[in-house]
Amino acid sequence: MTVTMSHAEEKLKHYFGYTHFRVGQEQIIDQMLLGNDSIAIMPTGGGKSICYQIPALLLPGITLVLSPLISLMKDQVDALLEIGIEATYLNSTLSKEEEMQRLADIKAKRYKLVYVAPERLEQSSFTRFLAELDLSLVAIDEAHCMSQWGHDFRPSYLKISAWLNELIKKPRVLALTATATEDVRHDLQQHLNIKDEQVFVTGFARENLRFQLVKGVDKWSYVEQYLQKQNYSAGIIYASTRKEVEQIFERLKNKGVKVGMYHGGMNEQDRHHHQEAFIHDHVSIMVATNAFGMGIDKSNVRFVVHYNLPKNIEAYYQEAGRAGRDGEPSECILLFSPQDIRTQSFFIDQSDMHEERKTQEYEKLQQMVAYCHTEMCLQQYILRYFGDDSEEQCQQCSNCNRTGEKVNRTREAQMVFSCMKRMRERFGKTMVAQVLTGSENQKIKQFQLDSLPTYGLMKQWTLKNLSAFIDYLTAEQYIKPTGSAYPTLQLTEKALHVLKGEEEVFQYEQPKQEEPQEQDDVFEALRTCRKELADAHHVPPYVIFSDKTLRQMSQYIPLTEDELALIQGVGEQKLQKYGETFLQVLHQFQERKPEHSEIAINTSPTKPKTSSAKKGSYLESVTLFKQGVSIEDIAKERQLTEQTILNHIMKAYQDGEPLELESLVDKEKVTAIKRVVDEIGSEYLRPIKEQLPEDVTYQDIRFVLGK
Ligand code: ADP
Ligand code: MG
Repeated sequence: MTVTMSHAEEKLKHYFGYTHFRVGQEQIIDQMLLGNDSIAIMPTGGGKSICYQIPALLLPGITLVLSPLISLMKDQVDALLEIGIEATYLNSTLSKEEEMQRLADIKAKRYKLVYVAPERLEQSSFTRFLAELDLSLVAIDEAHCMSQWGHDFRPSYLKISAWLNELIKKPRVLALTATATEDVRHDLQQHLNIKDEQVFVTGFARENLRFQLVKGVDKWSYVEQYLQKQNYSAGIIYASTRKEVEQIFERLKNKGVKVGMYHGGMNEQDRHHHQEAFIHDHVSIMVATNAFGMGIDKSNVRFVVHYNLPKNIEAYYQEAGRAGRDGEPSECILLFSPQDIRTQSFFIDQSDMHEERKTQEYEKLQQMVAYCHTEMCLQQYILRYFGDDSEEQCQQCSNCNRTGEKVNRTREAQMVFSCMKRMRERFGKTMVAQVLTGSENQKIKQFQLDSLPTYGLMKQWTLKNLSAFIDYLTAEQYIKPTGSAYPTLQLTEKALHVLKGEEEVFQYEQPKQEEPQEQDDVFEALRTCRKELADAHHVPPYVIFSDKTLRQMSQYIPLTEDELALIQGVGEQKLQKYGETFLQVLHQFQERKPEHSEIAINTSPTKPKTSSAKKGSYLESVTLFKQGVSIEDIAKERQLTEQTILNHIMKAYQDGEPLELESLVDKEKVTAIKRVVDEIGSEYLRPIKEQLPEDVTYQDIRFVLGK
């Protein structure tokens, strides 16, 4: 066959202008030339088309391409005609005369490739027509449409195998897809009667793609800045719902960005219009639901941003893979926020899939969530998902480029595992975290979980941080959630090794993030609230709170009175007068509360406050402190965390309360901090912290900078 493979290479050079085949292409083309029916599973952008286009040029007869994408057939065929390959298509957009002409030309062997949608095989006149042709190859593109397990099942695809079986002279068959799950593969093999040896899963690594996971940001501001940084080069933004797509589209349009939009609720004509505008670079950004993209082979897409969590890894890789088909460096960014898990769970729950299938979908969703918590190389995680156990790390994803120190978390992991065991592995993440942090939640009492020896074992953790740690343990496969909307957590073999002390658990310390950003829409909502109050009280708005105060609220989203009291400009009086009204507004944005904020507003969400703590304010802490009570004792007394008390003191200090700096921070530390600040300035805390010994805390630095 070597002679023919060199012919194949010649065609590649001659028609396509490429010098080498990509991983997998050569192998698959070789199989076609040998006449072996095959399934080719290659990632999106991996170069599947060439796997049938080159054999089409080398084989004597016609290659029939079955493709689901009527709207793209013309583009695909035009692209081939452009490079001198005789190709045509038949679909419902043609007039009767055009169709007759094309049929005649096909019969006269004027074309090497003919594209049709599988629906056409339902017309007996057409199958009779095909029976008389010399078909060398039938390529089934997007073949996962044939599987009920696939995400785009099309009933007409099921007709393909029946039609093939009836043919007297059998053409070669090549089924192509980017979907690599075992159930889909299995279905295809069955429908097409293809042996295991003829299934080729290749080239899943996409070396030019830089995967990035971004957590805890205001998504909209992130996107705004990102697009600007990218200089509005071509990119796709995927969101999960039509509503969200429309909102992002509108906002970008209002900013003057050239943007298109695509979702299933638009009419055919609009969708086509936007799609074409994107393909032909009339607009640079496409905002879309997952309805967009199959078969789009625009090669210069520089980035794909996922505004929401996709439903599973296949879908993610397929969508993200639409970046960088031309092999140029491109970025795939996933903006993670935990509430998106609920949206996807809801989609599964609402679907009409049967129970067994739902369970599988939940499990896949969990693997997607695990992607967002793993510390493994992100490309490697994806490859492993597809069954490629490569040890190689991409060296460019956000995990490979992570900074921060690796810390031993074995003890904490053991606490979590042993608590789960004692809870008989019958509860979900939140319950486990609540038991460990010693929550007084009703449900905990109801199940008498507060009598477990692990109850309150990790009191010093916030519920949020502990949940994140459990997510991490899940991502690293110590814990396996059951496949359901409200999964219960179970321990894996791996966790048992840790419990027995045979294996250790490490995690990278999250580097502290810079100050969270102000959030414009939150600020606007607060301003509206202020305006209403001002009108009602007949005072100018700034008398209520200054813009600066509202901005800081939009930055930190305080959710309790204690937290609100930490905001500059919120004194006791105003807290009593307006606190509740503003908190109501802020609660609407609670999901946007930054994950790590330097002000570390840190009241434990699980602890019910005593009445004294509730009606008291930060001033109560300050008074106690001035009386010489230690931070630790104040925290106990007020049932708040030490961090919160420190924040109270800090605020008083900043507000000009006469407090001795020395009583808050060691003299030596003060000197050291001042020295560093003199040297590098005081704009950011992190670089200052990095210059100082470990035991100097952010709080110490803030105190020194306070005035
Ligand atoms: P898929 O159908 O697998 O998503 P395509 O067939 O659309 O991918 O190919 C993706 C891109 O890769 C196209 O722009 C194509 O021209 C290019 N390509 C395919 N094979 C090669 C190759 N051997 N060398 C360079 N570029 C290639
Ligand atoms: Mg393709």
